[in-house]
Amino acid sequence: MDQEKQRRLRTLPAVHEVITRLEHDEEFSPFLTNERQLPRFTQGVRQVLQKARENVNRNFTDSFAEFETSLWSWLKIQLLQELACPETSLRRVINGTGVILHTNCGRALLAPEVARFVAEQAERYSNLELNIETGERGSRYVHVEELLCHLTGAEAAMVVNNNAAAVLLMMNTFAQGKDVIVSRGELVEVGGSFRIPEVLKAGGCKLVEVGTTNKTWLKDYEAAIGPQTAVLLKVHTSNYRVEGFTHSVSGAELVELGERRGIPAMEDLGSGSFFDGASLGFPIEPTIKQTVKAGLALVTFSGDKLLGGPQSGIIVGKKEYIERLRANQLTRALRIDKLTLAALEATLRLYENGGIEDIPVWRMLSLPLDTLKSAASELVVALQSNPAIIVELKEDVSQVGGGAWPTADLPTWVCAIRLKSGSVTELEKFLRLGPVAILSRIHKDWVLIDVRTLLSGDQGDIVRRLGELA
Ligand SMILES: *Cc1c(COP(=O)(O)O)cnc(C)c1O
Repeated sequence: MDQEKQRRLRTLPAVHEVITRLEHDEEFSPFLTNERQLPRFTQGVRQVLQKARENVNRNFTDSFAEFETSLWSWLKIQLLQELACPETSLRRVINGTGVILHTNCGRALLAPEVARFVAEQAERYSNLELNIETGERGSRYVHVEELLCHLTGAEAAMVVNNNAAAVLLMMNTFAQGKDVIVSRGELVEVGGSFRIPEVLKAGGCKLVEVGTTNKTWLKDYEAAIGPQTAVLLKVHTSNYRVEGFTHSVSGAELVELGERRGIPAMEDLGSGSFFDGASLGFPIEPTIKQTVKAGLALVTFSGDKLLGGPQSGIIVGKKEYIERLRANQLTRALRIDKLTLAALEATLRLYENGGIEDIPVWRMLSLPLDTLKSAASELVVALQSNPAIIVELKEDVSQVGGGAWPTADLPTWVCAIRLKSGSVTELEKFLRLGPVAILSRIHKDWVLIDVRTLLSGDQGDIVRRLGELA
């Protein structure tokens, strides 16, 4: 076996040999005659040869004669595929995981009309910070403020880079060098890099923890109030649930206590949602509008979680508080970019004029089970003739992701795939390393493709990739 392996490895050509041999090949000459493409071509050859070495180390199903004769055509096919991959670092992937707000894959998808508006704005000058009526300098926030006030019922609004920035700005503006009271049950960590205690520290505030992990009462906040107390902060426990004997204090109760003691109550709502998810069977949680109605001085939430827009941090609340945020020097450092602002404006307009169907995140969240079943069956049928794999239609559950509704089960249908010979991890890797990365979920010895998060064109790419195994 070892001798055979050595013999095959020796048969593999060197990089320069591949280049020389393909120099006059029609399919490759566009790369070889263009000086700017040459490094990419060489890199492609290196990668393909590496893959060939890995294959030699792994399998010996064919005879040496077969190996030798098919080697060059194999190398050429692989190389063409390698060169067909987009050159950019950021590229499309197929999300077969069923996680709708997949943080690693860019969270919320924007609606097509939103994407078009962003593209238009990118290529043209705009009135980003110009008051057209007066010809004088304007504010970039006006483009979304009225929409946000209308949608949330707040008096004023502004936007920053993301919700982490919103919380940082809010705390730095109102509690720098002072105390912020937070329940021990709400000291959340989101995505490993956002931790309430750390953000407070970064904002120059002192955290005063009250209550216990499972129970915090209004009297706990009240007892902790001192001369240094600047803010009563409520944080949404986005990505976990404490069950059993629990008690937490509502935003409205904090507002009432704050009013009595002259301290503003604020809330980091995390995801927040304009739609009432309960009507679709999701856990009952106050909508953004209901949260604002409790009378909090400020409420912050993300633009790219359940809102379904671009990465941004939205702050709504009382006018005097929003004005003080805008006056903070940090606002400049955390400021929202014009393309993001364009995406946010267009998304908010969809909420004004449309419904659940118009926001891709909500369309995916509300896909009927029979639609999912027929999409999954279609994929199963398209793969059934593939001799290298076994495919089955199965029921499963999708996830919302993005730290929203962590305990919500979204029943779905998946296409379950197995290699006739080969492991589940090999199959997952094969899908991921194709011309378009296909992300799937492994469950026991099956690779699952959840159709909930597939987009048009994805099915064809999945069938084509798996066809390469045949
Ligand atoms: C997600 C989340 C954040 C961070 O929001 P980003 O927009 O990702 O910065 C902050 N707080 C809570 C409660 C969250 O759920």
